[in-house]
Amino acid sequence: MNVTATANRSPHDNRSEMARREPTLPAFEDRGEDRPAELFFYRGRVALFAILKALGVGTGDEVILQGFTCVAVPEGVLATGATPVYADIEPDGYNLSPESCRSLLSPKTRAIVVQHTFGIPAKIARIRQLADEAGIPVVEDCCHAIGARVAGRELGGFGVASFYSFEWGKQIVAGLGGSAVANEPELQKRLLELHAPLGVPPLIKRSQLMVQHTAFQVLNRPAWYWKVRAAYHGLARLGIAAGNFRPAGDLAKASPEYGWQMPRAAVRRVQRQSKQIEATVKHSRQVASQYRCNIATPEVLHPVISPEETPSYARYPLRVEAKQELLKQAEEKRVELAGWYQSVIHPLTSETLSEVGYEPGCCPNAEQRASEVVSLPTNSRVTAGSLERTISLLNGLR
Ligand SMILES: *Cc1c(COP(=O)(O)O)cnc(C)c1O
Repeated sequence: MNVTATANRSPHDNRSEMARREPTLPAFEDRGEDRPAELFFYRGRVALFAILKALGVGTGDEVILQGFTCVAVPEGVLATGATPVYADIEPDGYNLSPESCRSLLSPKTRAIVVQHTFGIPAKIARIRQLADEAGIPVVEDCCHAIGARVAGRELGGFGVASFYSFEWGKQIVAGLGGSAVANEPELQKRLLELHAPLGVPPLIKRSQLMVQHTAFQVLNRPAWYWKVRAAYHGLARLGIAAGNFRPAGDLAKASPEYGWQMPRAAVRRVQRQSKQIEATVKHSRQVASQYRCNIATPEVLHPVISPEETPSYARYPLRVEAKQELLKQAEEKRVELAGWYQSVIHPLTSETLSEVGYEPGCCPNAEQRASEVVSLPTNSRVTAGSLERTISLLNGLR
């Protein structure tokens, strides 16, 4: 994904141009001019699955990922037969702790998934360095992070591959969908071989997604957030809408989704929105800076950003002590406030975390963060009025 995509050139042509202009960090080889294509899969987790398969990950292998994530990520790992190993996040942030990651490396480690949560860059240079020393490939989870940069260089270009998601909560919304980009020709070739035989979802599923996408376009307003969310969850429970998550209990079962590409109509929506992604990201940053400047109460902690990091803020996260109480107030006042991740592996509960191999207590920072995080919208539907109501709700906490 690239923020400077234009109509008649692939985003990757542009990316190589950016890579040439931008300063390169030490410890990264020049990856050349001919950038690989973006391959579209049914969902982000399917794209991750394909990348891991292309890397040769399978049964008996371990893949390190962070606690404080959604079930999509371990699901993609489990689908390869590998074991997810959970590293903790940084004590004051939302992303993988390099130290925790290092302590979990083992002879079985075959990949490290680095998630740039909420569009805030992970400590990717340090993680790349320790991964390089151990000879382990890094895969970037850029599902929230299109357009985010470190030292001027766009995320997604730091690992051997990156993946993206285009579902309802993301910067580009296509219905369900995901993509993978490999940064090395050999890996790209294997990814293409895995992609070529994939089918498309059945017509009934494609129609369902089309209807959902239309409804989303109409209903996605901050003030309607709570009502739409309740309706969506209700319809997903009844099997009428395609939900974001499979029922716990099904996670270890094979799913046909891993054999599907993204429908053409959804790919076209991604391509259309990609042309505006620069404006989308700029808007998100402006809204985020409004939140940062105007929410001023000791009850909330703003994200900590280093000078070389340029987040894209798919959403703007805050840490609050009275999270559940605040969510209740937000619902009453019709203020859009999201509670995810509600658990270390959202939306699993203490009873179901074991299904993805998470042992309670193993990532204390991640568990703490899940108990205190709320996030605010930064998308184009945020209006001056909704911004004002959000800010006053939070400042009311003092
Ligand atoms: C959305 C998301 C994914 C992938 O989700 P899909 O529903 O499979 O497209 C992966 N990682 C993160 C951090 C996400 O937010």
